[in-house]
Amino acid sequence: MRADRCHDLECPKRLGPARIKIGFCIEHGPNARQCKQPECGTWLSQLNRDGFCNTHRPKAAQARARQKANPVRTMLVYARYRAKQRGIPFSITPEDITIPARCPILGTPLDFSDGSRTEPSLDRRIPELGYIPGNVWVISTLANSMKWNASAEDLLAFSRYWVSQEAMAEQWTRFIREQEQGS
Ligand SMILES: [Zn+2]
Ligand SMILES: [Zn+2]
Repeated sequence: MRADRCHDLECPKRLGPARIKIGFCIEHGPNARQCKQPECGTWLSQLNRDGFCNTHRPKAAQARARQKANPVRTMLVYARYRAKQRGIPFSITPEDITIPARCPILGTPLDFSDGSRTEPSLDRRIPELGYIPGNVWVISTLANSMKWNASAEDLLAFSRYWVSQEAMAEQWTRFIREQEQGS
């Protein structure tokens, strides 16, 4: 018996480093359990406590439903929390938050359709000024995280590189296609 294979005789799975000690894949271990949500079928890790996968965990699901039902309120709650944590001003009310149909930076629809990327998120135009009327606008979570994690120079360099790579890939594709057609 290979040590890196699941000990279940019929299971062909090879185990990752974390599972080799347990000896079974996620479906065949002694504590193997699936999410309690009917028809979910997701196998749960040994560490799982409540019997629900991340999607179906009741509290998370409830919070998510609340967020979808009232995104402005959710943004305010988080903003107030962050303001307190960072010691920055907070004086906005729901009237100061307008959710546009599309992300003003990326142009993608602002909704809950594409995981968390397209979710509306509250951004401070000038971070130090805090959450005060006029200094907040709503952009997509993706745009917000790009803004946070990279400087303007980083983003420009990234975009330049990416565009040139895409152009290069396009040239190659055309070249290969021409070769194929020529032969
Ligand atoms: Zn297995
Ligand atoms: Zn589930």
